[in-house]
Order: sequence, then C-alpha cells, then structure tokens
Amino acid sequence: MSTALSNLRLRGIHHQSSASVIALENVIVSYPSVNRNRTTYALEALTFQIEHGEQIAVVGPNGAGKSTLMKLIAGILDPSSGSVEVYGSGPGGHICIGYVPQRSQIDFSFPVTVEEVVMMGRVGKIGLFRWPKREDWSIVHDCLSRVNASDLARKQIGELSGGQQQRVFIARALAQEAEILLLDEPLAGLDVPSQEAIFEILEGLSPDNVTVLLATHDLERAADKFDRVMLLNRRLVAFDKPSVALTPANLMSAYSGHMHRIDGDEGRILLTDECHDQDDADQAGTWSAVDGTWSEVEKSEDG
Ligand code: ADP
Ligand code: MG
Repeated sequence: MSTALSNLRLRGIHHQSSASVIALENVIVSYPSVNRNRTTYALEALTFQIEHGEQIAVVGPNGAGKSTLMKLIAGILDPSSGSVEVYGSGPGGHICIGYVPQRSQIDFSFPVTVEEVVMMGRVGKIGLFRWPKREDWSIVHDCLSRVNASDLARKQIGELSGGQQQRVFIARALAQEAEILLLDEPLAGLDVPSQEAIFEILEGLSPDNVTVLLATHDLERAADKFDRVMLLNRRLVAFDKPSVALTPANLMSAYSGHMHRIDGDEGRILLTDECHDQDDADQAGTWSAVDGTWSEVEKSEDG
C-alpha cells in the first residue's frame, strides 16, 4: 500500500496511522529573558510519546513548564529546538486538538454567550465564513447537555462560575470533535463537586478514545484517575503509570525547593508546594474565548 493510502485523511490534516498521537523529540524551549545575559529554559531535552486514548496527568511545581508544554502541543508556541508532532506532523493546522488554557490566561471580557463559545468549536468543520447549519446547533446543544450545562446556553461566558466555565470549554472541545484534549489546570479554584463533574466528563470520553492531557497540582487525583503521570520540572523527571512515577525519590527530585518532606506511615510523604503567584505573573499573554487565538504581551524590564 502506498504511503499516501496508508495515511488516514482525518479532518484537515493527514493522520499517519502508524504515528504516536503526540511525540516530542529532544524539545527545548527558552523564552526571551528579562536578563539578556542569561538564557533560561522553560523545557529541556523533552522526549516522549503518547498513544491513542491515553489519559495523562501532567504534574510539577509552579514554573515547571506545564503550560509551556500544553502550548507546544496546541501549536501556539514553537520549540526553540527539537520536534513536536501530532499524528506524525507538526501541530499547526490540526483541528483535532481541543485546548483549554489556564483560567488566568482566558479573556472573559468579550461579550459572547455560552452557546456562541461552543459553536466556535465548530469553525474548523464549518469553515470560517459559512453560517452554522441546524445540525451544528444541534451538536452544540448536545455537547452542552453532555457537560450538564444546557441551562447556561444563553448566558454570557463572563457571568459563569469557574467550574461552569471549564465545563463550557470542554463542551467546545467536544463540539470540535477533538481527538486530543489539553486541559491546563482545569481543577484550580474549583470546589470538590465541580472537580468531580470534570472527572465524570473525562470518564465519558474514554469510550471515544479521546487522548487527554491534564495539568494539575493534585497528586492524589493524578495517582487515582490517570493512566500515566508525567512528572515535570523543566525536564522529564518521570513518565509512567502512577505507582511507578510518583515515588518519593521522583517527587523530591521534581519538587525540590518547592516542598518540605515529612515522612509518614507506609512510606507516604507529605508535600507542600510553596504556591506563589509567580506563575500568573509570568504569563505574558491572553487567550481569546471567541476565536481561540493567543496574544502575547511584551514584558517590560521592570516587570
Ligand atoms: P507552569 O505552567 O508549570 O507553572 P510555565 O510553562 O507557565 O510553567 O512556565 C515555565 C517557565 O517559563 C517559568 O519559569 C516561566 O517564568 C517562564 N515563562 C512562561 N511563559 C513565559 C513568557 N511568555 N515569557 C517569558 N517567560 C515565560
Ligand atoms: Mg501553568
């Protein structure tokens, strides 16, 4: 069979049937530093593969590079060197990637209703300058119902609670028929029922083999709910099933400087991540809920 025939043509870009869903090879990311004499690396020497339908938790302290990794895979950011491939080609142009940025990076000021946000997920299918058909509206309302948000359809996105907004953005990815879902700290600031609601939605995606990457600080949930855990601190400290990745030694290595170690019963250790707002302060950009575009903001010398 020719290569062309063996490539499955799936929405927008060829998916190579033999390729990993996501593959990074020796990826390095360095941001322009405020101190021009020093290069700082957000990610170094990252190499890994993720396969079809895997659900992966990405954990690591603030500044570990979790958001940077999500942006690389979403195709918003190019690596300084190395390669990022989605189904065998660069991530740009893949309409199968649903990306939900960290809440602090989303611009909620734009007047847009919930159903309009979800309909924007259909743009890749409909084309930019065509009107949605009745079938598209029906998909939008079906997706809102899948995340239990039908009653929010006509509300402004900015009016919703954090948990409701996360569900709406997941509905948008469902409407997009995303095969890869990137969720950057969707649990942050949510109460327990809202967090559970998100896990129920993710469980519902398993039969469809949607590949999920979810960044979180919640080590217990990472251990409980995911196939593999990626422990990140600029470098890949571990990437394996939870019982292998989340060992005290690996956690110490990833969180050193961000935690205190307290040895407990049965080899359990207690971690306290010294949370600070550096993370948000460092995010020089916002994501538009309307068209999914990213705008970087120049950082000034004095911050
Ligand atoms: P995490 O999401 O794990 O907290 P990030 O990916 O946001 O980590 O950040 C990784 C590192 O890259 C941090 O040191 C952060 O300061 C830096 N960084 C992130 N975004 C930018 C940016 N736009 N400009 C400069 N540095 C950045
Ligand atoms: Mg982050």
